[in-house]
Amino acid sequence: MAMKHLVQHIETLDQHPAWEDTRQALEEARIDALPSSPMCIRDVLEEYFSDRIWPAFNPSSPGYLGYVPGGGILLAAVADLIANTLNRYVTVNEVAPHLSMIEHSVIQWFVDCVGYPAGAGGFLTTGGSMANWSALVTARRCRLPDNFFDALIYTSNQAHHSVLKAAIMAGFPEANVRVLTVDNAYRIDPVELAMQVEHDRAAGKSPFLVVAHAGTVNTGTIDPIDALADFCQAENLWLHVDGSYGGFFCLTERGKRRLKGIHRADSIALDPHKGLFLPYGTGCLLVQQQDHLHTAHYVAAEYLPKRTVPSGVPSICEISPELSRDFRALRIWLPLTCHGIDTFGEYLDEKIDLAHWAYEQLSGHATIRIVAAPELSLLAFVLELDEEIPLERRNELNARMLSNANQSRRFLLTSTVIDGQLIVRMCILCFRTHLPDVEFCVREVQRAADEVIGEIS
Ligand SMILES: *Cc1c(COP(=O)(O)O)cnc(C)c1O
Repeated sequence: MAMKHLVQHIETLDQHPAWEDTRQALEEARIDALPSSPMCIRDVLEEYFSDRIWPAFNPSSPGYLGYVPGGGILLAAVADLIANTLNRYVTVNEVAPHLSMIEHSVIQWFVDCVGYPAGAGGFLTTGGSMANWSALVTARRCRLPDNFFDALIYTSNQAHHSVLKAAIMAGFPEANVRVLTVDNAYRIDPVELAMQVEHDRAAGKSPFLVVAHAGTVNTGTIDPIDALADFCQAENLWLHVDGSYGGFFCLTERGKRRLKGIHRADSIALDPHKGLFLPYGTGCLLVQQQDHLHTAHYVAAEYLPKRTVPSGVPSICEISPELSRDFRALRIWLPLTCHGIDTFGEYLDEKIDLAHWAYEQLSGHATIRIVAAPELSLLAFVLELDEEIPLERRNELNARMLSNANQSRRFLLTSTVIDGQLIVRMCILCFRTHLPDVEFCVREVQRAADEVIGEIS
């Protein structure tokens, strides 16, 4: 019954809109009353698929180019069905050794992917936000005393908001996060960082950690990771790289070159539910030294097996915040095993090509100005407008261009704001997105830009 609905959904996915207007539904959506007596699943599913899944944005659609796209490889759903039906316990090695080892295998695959040395490790989280948070907690526990209130964290004004949230949840006062301005390519400037660190040390503060981005959410910009690693090494600062958007581009030659130095970071956040096209709920924290995770998280419990594993691989509950949880690794292991990692690399390569193609089309168009060329698969642009026009008016016009472009609902682009300026972004990361989808989007953007410019001139 569920299969019938799902097959029908997937088979018609490219006919569904990439987004719908949810404003009315937002008003009408109601909390369910708790059902007291049984209901027929056929009716329940019928109602679910006909009345609930729409209206919505559709992150598994080939036209979803907003925010950072999702995916939802079907084999991952098969893995979840298996994992949830068997309901094995994987966070204590002794309880299901071969299955726990699947969790550790997936982590080692990712360790290899970013080029970390032996001794590196990590664990699966539910997403990039949780990975950033666990990174900051781990660094704090390994590097700082219990009273850490003068320790400072450095990141740029292009950081994902989950970085500030992570710092706050890790116990740092908000004011301890130093937000650096960026250079004109939206990157952290190592010279400015060095000046700020020196200034803070002179004021008696304790610089402690730097968060760099392997692809910012605004423009896809990659911070100069190698140079930051040099600086952090010299200054004894922990370097965390948020690779939630871009980290898995390490699976491509071009990505590897652009993410040079990522293996020198003390910790890296990855988001398989973005870059590996997996369903939501799949994130990852990697650390260069797995021992750090143990130091940060281990608390003894009399009712759990002692650490007896001859291989020296710690149980996941000893190196992460969670105890009972889903068998997250299976939804990575099954698709990676069946499709092979090269397939993922090829798909990511295709996304880089598509973004580059879109960039060439848009940068050659008279009414459009590129704000950020794609380093990976994300580009940002605005209308070509006279700087004399007040910022507020320019923002209005760009917003109009965006909503005009999105009108067909066959694709979704979203915007962001940098220095008060509204910017339209195109992020290509869904495995279902191919050239015809991007072609259509680019034509619509060009048409919308011409229309808005036409109206005002
Ligand atoms: C998506 C994203 C995050 C947050 O990850 P979630 O999986 O949504 O929690 C953090 N940083 C960057 C750069 C991202 O793109």
